[in-house]
Amino acid sequence: SAMDAALRDAVERRLRSFGSASVLFYQEPIRMERAEGVWMFDAEGRRYLDLYNNVPSVGHSHPRVVEAIRRQAGRLNTHTRYLNDVVDSYAERLLATFPADIDHLVLTCTGSEANDLALRIAKVATGGAGFVVTETAYHGNTAAVTDVSPSARPGQPLPPHVRIVPAPEMFRAPIGDLGKRFAESVGGAITDLEQSGIGFAGLLVDTIFSSDGIYADPPGFLAPVVKLVHERQGLFIADEVQPGFGRTGAALWGFARHGVVPDIVTMGKPMGNGFPVGGVATRAALLDRFAAETKYFNTFGGNPVAAAAGLAVLDVIGDEGLIENARKIGGYVMNGLREIGNRHIQIGDVRGSGLFIGLELVRDRDAKTPAPEIASQLINRLRHRGILVGAAGPYGNTLKIRPPLCFTKDNADMFIAACDEVLREICPT
Ligand code: PMP
Repeated sequence: SAMDAALRDAVERRLRSFGSASVLFYQEPIRMERAEGVWMFDAEGRRYLDLYNNVPSVGHSHPRVVEAIRRQAGRLNTHTRYLNDVVDSYAERLLATFPADIDHLVLTCTGSEANDLALRIAKVATGGAGFVVTETAYHGNTAAVTDVSPSARPGQPLPPHVRIVPAPEMFRAPIGDLGKRFAESVGGAITDLEQSGIGFAGLLVDTIFSSDGIYADPPGFLAPVVKLVHERQGLFIADEVQPGFGRTGAALWGFARHGVVPDIVTMGKPMGNGFPVGGVATRAALLDRFAAETKYFNTFGGNPVAAAAGLAVLDVIGDEGLIENARKIGGYVMNGLREIGNRHIQIGDVRGSGLFIGLELVRDRDAKTPAPEIASQLINRLRHRGILVGAAGPYGNTLKIRPPLCFTKDNADMFIAACDEVLREICPT
């Protein structure tokens, strides 16, 4: 048909410029044109309910964020070496959301840059060079950050300064006390780094363990490992790129659910609702040492337009009660998915916090055999029903449910009913 031809042309056009570096979603990619709130619209005007995008976190094309960007772009947008009220107001507002010890900030353009900088700060502060991460972690795309992102280098041996530990999960390994178990495996990795002469610099984790398969519970399970990291003279780096800015429905930051205070926090994705802005927040003493030893500068990081976008995002999260909405609607989605789980043995586990939810698909709930083929069919069939969702975890069998935080009960009902129907189609009993 003409529509198929248009899609084929669009894919060929993409590949002519970007070749094999091009990354496209779906067996049948989407020509996306515009979006608003929780809805996205393709070139044929078809509407999609978005449960994938955590970047436009306060809602696609949010009018207050759009207006803040537009106004600031028309006033001043330059590098970051001038004093500017918007930039300093943003820094103050953002720092006020952290525990008192975390009182300084560097703004970047991406989460990868933020993590790259965090690794550098930790190395200067500790004199060590070794990092511990989870086994399917993703922390970004720079050379140094790819080294600590096992999921981005499949099949390659770990770099000598990196140790991996199993993700803190209770579905496949429901044994013992999770916090204690996680701390023990990190302890072993630290000993190994010390014995190899590399020295321990820090533990870097995404506090919702997104690419590992989404592990949120029980709250507090990170407390023992943070205590241990400090005893072993390392830093705890909380990657808040995924859980940050209210998504967990408990607080602005994922680490807060665990009652821990990180040494370094990194941020990105939802920070500017799509305008590129990231950041590193840490203690003054750590940043001072790093600054004294380097000439770090970031041309675009936290420029006036980025700061205006960031301020608008913080305003909207507060004014629209989005943390509370994430808590309420997230709980509703999890209950609904568990309820349809009574009819589908392929639903192995429903877990998460707020509007960061994992739905783990298995062939059989008792054997827990991962079913990536069911996840993939579900994702593609939902896409044809106008619902966008992705997958995560080492087996790619966990649906990663992360809608904009303005998601409603009606939106949730539509998603849950569609999952129920599609599972009935693909797994007839
Ligand atoms: N950390 C985590 C946990 C991420 O998920 C990502 C991006 N998927 C990054 C860091 C890197 O962020 P960016 O793509 O903005 O560089």
